[in-house]
Amino acid sequence: MSHSVTTVNPYTLKNIKTYQVQSKEDVMKALDKSDKAFQKWKLVEIEEKTELLYKVAEILEAKKHDFALLMTQEMGKPISESIAEIEKCMSLCDFYAANAESFLSDDIIETEAYESFISYDPLGTILAVMPWNYPFWQVFRFALPNLTAGNTALLKHASNVTGCALAIQDIFIEAGYPKDVFQTLVAPHETIEELIKNDKLKAVTLTGSEKAGKSIAEQCGNLLKKTVLELGGNNACIVLSDADLDKYLDEMVSARFQNTGQSCIAAKRFIVTEGIYDSFIDQFTKKVRALKIGNPEENDTKISILARPDLAETLKQQIDSSVKAGAHVLFGNDVLDAYFAPTILTNVSPEMSVFKEETFGPVAAIIKVKDEDEAYALATNSRFGLGTMVFTENIEAARKKIIDIPDGAFFINSMVKSDPRLPFGGTKASGYGRELSKEGMLEFLNVKTVLIN
Ligand code: NDP
Repeated sequence: MSHSVTTVNPYTLKNIKTYQVQSKEDVMKALDKSDKAFQKWKLVEIEEKTELLYKVAEILEAKKHDFALLMTQEMGKPISESIAEIEKCMSLCDFYAANAESFLSDDIIETEAYESFISYDPLGTILAVMPWNYPFWQVFRFALPNLTAGNTALLKHASNVTGCALAIQDIFIEAGYPKDVFQTLVAPHETIEELIKNDKLKAVTLTGSEKAGKSIAEQCGNLLKKTVLELGGNNACIVLSDADLDKYLDEMVSARFQNTGQSCIAAKRFIVTEGIYDSFIDQFTKKVRALKIGNPEENDTKISILARPDLAETLKQQIDSSVKAGAHVLFGNDVLDAYFAPTILTNVSPEMSVFKEETFGPVAAIIKVKDEDEAYALATNSRFGLGTMVFTENIEAARKKIIDIPDGAFFINSMVKSDPRLPFGGTKASGYGRELSKEGMLEFLNVKTVLIN
């Protein structure tokens, strides 16, 4: 087992920094400290907790450019998107500062008893296993509602963004959170397994691959510990013949190419009816061709390096096997190290990798269909269930499809995106549980029934 982690800038391929990996003993000590901190933190008044959220937002604002650059250097995200990510974390602080008190206050339920109500009580220490694709946002959307609700947090971040993981710990310390309420661990998978076995660790949330999700869920299942899993997605973007391309084409392009395509909720399969197919292809290709590819630290870069070389290799294999099975490369498909140019594939069918599997990079799979019925049938033909989007001017017809969409989200004339005010999460192989909004805040709380006679 390696005793250190070295982060590497995927664009320059230069080492950034080497960090010591914590020993098993140190990680267990962190859990003890977290559990101790919980005993006091759970009693802190909600007003005090929400004040701290404003402090976090102030720090994010003051150091926005430093944090954005750190993300960009560690995982290659275009800098304009890194800045937007920090701003989104700030909006999350504001959202929970404004709403936490009402989300967490007792719900009085009238019964024959003298008094009966629901008390929303924190569980204790929660472990967050987080990915590199949105290094700040993924952590904040777990941490802010959970800390505010009285839980304490241990973060095991993806090793390639260890600098971000430690910077986030520093933010909570600087904001004035009591010591040990939020701690970052730099630890290998085996140590995490030991940590999960400990009774003081109450629950785990994981955002990442299906493989990681299954492994954590299996460990927790054996111990009857609650998990929330936010795994991969293979969202369909249905474009019906009456879609307003002038208005929504930019949105469709962002839906696929944001974060250089490394997003679980990205539109991965474009299912387009024949009435609009030719004009969609023509305009979509023009827009994709115009995306500026290059150095992630330049402000106008829209597409940059993938976060790791192995991610580009996987993507390349998915494309190659699909082309072998009959897909046409309309645009792109060039690889240079981890650098992956935007690619558009047409003539895609359901048995191909780019249809069946999650493609975590800038590849749009386009499927031509006869009509609306065929479009929805193909859209829902997926192991994943994060979200579906449809572009159409007939909102009433689309509304009737809500019941038929088996996913965690259905967006009409909008890309699927997360919003602090709305629940976020999936079904099927995309995982279970919700983040954000009131629903996300309640996941790791004990919804306790209290009755007084
Ligand atoms: P992983 O799922 O391997 O990594 C995500 C996080 O889980 C990291 O912190 C990783 O740690 C941790 N992890 C993985 N396995 C374990 C384990 N057994 N015990 C404890 N922690 C674990 O994703 P990859 O980075 O390898 O990406 C592979 C694919 O996963 C992508 O191509 C994409 O399809 C999907 N993915 C989906 C994401 C989403 O937003 N839903 C985000 C990232 C990936 P460490 O870095 O130390 O291995």
